[in-house]
Amino acid sequence: METKLVDLLDKLNREHSLELEEYQFLLENINPDLMNLAAEYARKYQNQYYGNKVYIRGLVEFTNYCRNNCYYCGIRRGNNNCERYRLKADDIIACADEGYKLGFRTVVLQGGEDFTYSDEDICNIIKGIKASHNDMVITLSIGERERDSYQKYFDAGARRFLLRHETANPELYAKLHPKELSFEHRMKCLHDLKDIGYQVGAGFMVQSPGQTPKDIAMDLKFIEEFKPDMCGIGPFISHKETPFAKEASGTLEMTLFLISLLRMIYPQMLIPATTALGTIDPRGREKGIQAGANVVMPNLSPTSVRKMYTLYDNKICTGEEAAECINCLKNRIASVGYEIVTDVGNRAGFID
Ligand code: SF4
Repeated sequence: METKLVDLLDKLNREHSLELEEYQFLLENINPDLMNLAAEYARKYQNQYYGNKVYIRGLVEFTNYCRNNCYYCGIRRGNNNCERYRLKADDIIACADEGYKLGFRTVVLQGGEDFTYSDEDICNIIKGIKASHNDMVITLSIGERERDSYQKYFDAGARRFLLRHETANPELYAKLHPKELSFEHRMKCLHDLKDIGYQVGAGFMVQSPGQTPKDIAMDLKFIEEFKPDMCGIGPFISHKETPFAKEASGTLEMTLFLISLLRMIYPQMLIPATTALGTIDPRGREKGIQAGANVVMPNLSPTSVRKMYTLYDNKICTGEEAAECINCLKNRIASVGYEIVTDVGNRAGFID
């Protein structure tokens, strides 16, 4: 392997930082030996901070209505062929109850930007879950709202928020989103969330249409500087009812390599092995864990609505009951020498 590539990984291992051009050079020269070396470094940090433990989060996809029209997303407003659903507050709380019984101590409430749920509704759902399970950590993944709303949810008991930044390049952001969505507002949301005290999850799509190695290098630089508690990445996968229907998917190799680089950039960060990774490769999530990821998010949504929450085509795990999903994941993760734990799963070093 070229000495410069080995030297760059060595530098990243020592300094947890590279210049933008250096990240770009690594990405432009990805090869199996380089991936293996990065994964070795990544597993060293994974072991140092998390041992062989993998955290699980119970995902409840509670609405597939969305006011936005992102060009890559299957539940975008403009998709008239999407069968829509909304779960009632009681049903969402029941999903969390079910998760609790199955051992989950953290639940992720995810949906499109659906303002049918007012701030009060969201707060009542949070309080409803906390009333029965005070030891359950609640994560929200409901998109962009204003700071005072985020503050209300935090005050009601939510403690984590996932909001992928999607890309750190404003020009690419403008190619992936319609004009009414602004890169600046998304970044403001992320900073507000961090400032309020949430554990924040950022993240980006890998090899989205038009994305260059320099764009991905900008994402890595952003993660290095913003230091989110979690970073979720998944390969871009097209959806047939979107303007990007014919675009090529991102690759398993690039996604795995990026997981390893992210682990080296911020060794304590929570990194999920995403469903998208499991969709492009039957053992994608296991490979993600071996590349440095340490979180999986099985689905707790009622099976009756799972198939309707299709952000991209051929999404896996839309049929099984939650308990089946967990058993399947436990076995998968054990097959590569790791163990799923039912811990709240804070980022290593996080002080509440
Ligand atoms: S990516 Fe999120 S905000 Fe954009 S259309 Fe899909 S659900 Fe809505």
